[in-house]
Amino acid sequence: MRSKRAGPARFADEESQPTHMKGTTGGPRLPLLRQLVGDRHGLGAAARSKRSAELKPRTAIADRVVDSICPYCAVGCGQKVYVKDEKVTQIEGDEASPISRGHLCPKGSASLQLVTSPSRETKVKYRRSYGTEWEELPLERAMDMIADRLIAVRGETWQHEDENGDVVNRTLGFAHLGGATLDNEENYLIKKFFSAMGAVQIENQARI
Ligand code: SF4
Repeated sequence: MRSKRAGPARFADEESQPTHMKGTTGGPRLPLLRQLVGDRHGLGAAARSKRSAELKPRTAIADRVVDSICPYCAVGCGQKVYVKDEKVTQIEGDEASPISRGHLCPKGSASLQLVTSPSRETKVKYRRSYGTEWEELPLERAMDMIADRLIAVRGETWQHEDENGDVVNRTLGFAHLGGATLDNEENYLIKKFFSAMGAVQIENQARI
């Protein structure tokens, strides 16, 4: 007689299972019955189906793993990006990161969706003055437009001296506002470039 604490009955293969048990990893097909015959708390075999027993984590079937940094904020937590068939299939925390030691906050944990979401913007959107619709521009064209406007505004608004006659060599015609995802190197280059261009207001969203 089977003990109350014994595990569910096992069968050599699916063919030898009674009809009501087919498709399971062993024992009755109904989870409740599996629970009754040996997994009283439903935390072990009773909770498993044949399908769930055969599932493998996406991290185990990836073709390769790429080390990366979370793009959301300047904390810079380490990430491991799992790739299969040249598509990103999972993003996990990198336990080797001295910053985050394998952890990601809810935003970082959801960064797979940032990469794979069908609503992700991949093209430059431009709305011209008085326009009511967004237009798509090639990136090269958008970059040229920004550069042309920066140079033009700088020329139009350049101040060699202020109203007191003091040399200032500046422009108040444009400013730069950085975002929280910028890292040290990017901030260094932005500050250096815009200072050289004569901008005075160079800020970051974190201080607003
Ligand atoms: S995981 Fe969270 S805390 Fe870490 S970099 Fe990403 S957004 Fe910032």
